[in-house]
Amino acid sequence: MKIMKFGGTSVGKPERMHEVAKLITKDAEPKIVVLSALSGTTNSLVEISVSLANADRNMAKQQIEILEAHYQNFIDQLLKTAAALASAKSIISEHFEFLNIILKISFSEALNKDILAQGELLSTKLFSVYLTEQGIDHALIPALDFMTIDNDDEPQIGSIKVKLAQILQRHKNKTVFITQGFISRNAKGEVDNLKRGGSDYSASLIAAAVNASVCEIWTDIDGMHNNDPRVVKKTVAIEQMSFEEAAEPAYFGAKILHPASIWPAQFYKVPVKLLNTMQPEARGTLITELAGSVGVKAIAAKDGITAIKIKSSRMLLAYGFLRKIFEVFEKHRTSIDMITTSEVGVSLTIDNDTNLPAIIKELEPFGTVEIDANQTIVSIVGNEITETKDVMQQIFKSLSGIPIRMVSYGGSSHNISILIPKNYKVQTLQLLNVGLFGLE
Ligand code: ADP
Ligand code: ASP
Ligand code: MG
Repeated sequence: MKIMKFGGTSVGKPERMHEVAKLITKDAEPKIVVLSALSGTTNSLVEISVSLANADRNMAKQQIEILEAHYQNFIDQLLKTAAALASAKSIISEHFEFLNIILKISFSEALNKDILAQGELLSTKLFSVYLTEQGIDHALIPALDFMTIDNDDEPQIGSIKVKLAQILQRHKNKTVFITQGFISRNAKGEVDNLKRGGSDYSASLIAAAVNASVCEIWTDIDGMHNNDPRVVKKTVAIEQMSFEEAAEPAYFGAKILHPASIWPAQFYKVPVKLLNTMQPEARGTLITELAGSVGVKAIAAKDGITAIKIKSSRMLLAYGFLRKIFEVFEKHRTSIDMITTSEVGVSLTIDNDTNLPAIIKELEPFGTVEIDANQTIVSIVGNEITETKDVMQQIFKSLSGIPIRMVSYGGSSHNISILIPKNYKVQTLQLLNVGLFGLE
């Protein structure tokens, strides 16, 4: 059995959905097809939620109307027969009625999650109507019946496995299953989600749960590129990467893959393929346990980083100093990305500054605390990169005019990270593209 996940742009237009139907019927291997919401929908739902949170019902109502009109227009082009159109219309009515009802309810976090779930519910139901119209046999299996997360928002892989097996057993005669990415049920039994971009994570968890032959992530680009194509003009697709290698750019900003989606596939040894819906014949990127080659493969950038420097003469030869500092971050459930030390100070970075004021307050007794907001981590990734000759030299040579704030080398053998002010990001990515890949 294989998993095929299609992202927002892959289902965002009626003609794209028609293509997806062709792609999933190309071979006879049983498959679970995981869909995102139509591109733009989750953003619109977030905006509706924000309006409701601000008690701006008129604004929310307008936003709901615009979104509903988009869906009406979408199905007119997606479907042909009167019967299919009637089913699709009633699906749209049902979900937009729900959105209109919540206009009258007071806003809560649980309601927010319910709102965000509408996108994937709509896309999968409408796709199912299209498959039926085309006479393509399939079963629509609700993710909310098997995708569960615990109190710490961690997926319960054991229970997902059991529940999914039972569901598949109930549809023994089917070979094509459609389900929602992104959405899940939490420990309280409420509708929840796997965070923005989480459909990749859903696909990988499902792949792990059914021990799939492959987890295919279909998107709008032909695989993981060597540099961020949104920033740098000339980039090329990487043919093969190991899970360890792929995890680094995924975590450090390459949007193509949700960072959490690596571990389930890696742990359960399911190969992941990144493929392009617009160009299905392109080779894409294969991610397995094997790296394929040694040396620099990819550069990724993660914005929104805050650097924290704690300077203290007492650190000199003091054991237990770092533990005390780390405990402050642990207490405030804030994870640390980069860290560098010297005898008189330690610098570290965080990407979530929600609890920063409280953290600063608790760090102050240890020494002087300095904060630099608006930083960017640029990661240079590749198999055994730290053992590759002259990489550091090439990096520093390429970036001679860039104010580098921190460098992390040797944390793993496949990542070198540097911290720079965000306004140098574009220049840094371009310079490294030339210096490390010879791509102008
Ligand atoms: P989907 O909607 O299919 O989940 P996303 O928009 O989440 O797609 O991810 C695909 C996008 O990721 C690409 O369109 C590209 O702009 C962006 N991206 C950022 N960094 C990279 C990279 N290194 N390689 C490929 N794509 C990248
Ligand atoms: N629709 C969700 C989002 O936009 C999940 C996803 O597309 O992966 O974040
Ligand atoms: Mg995505």
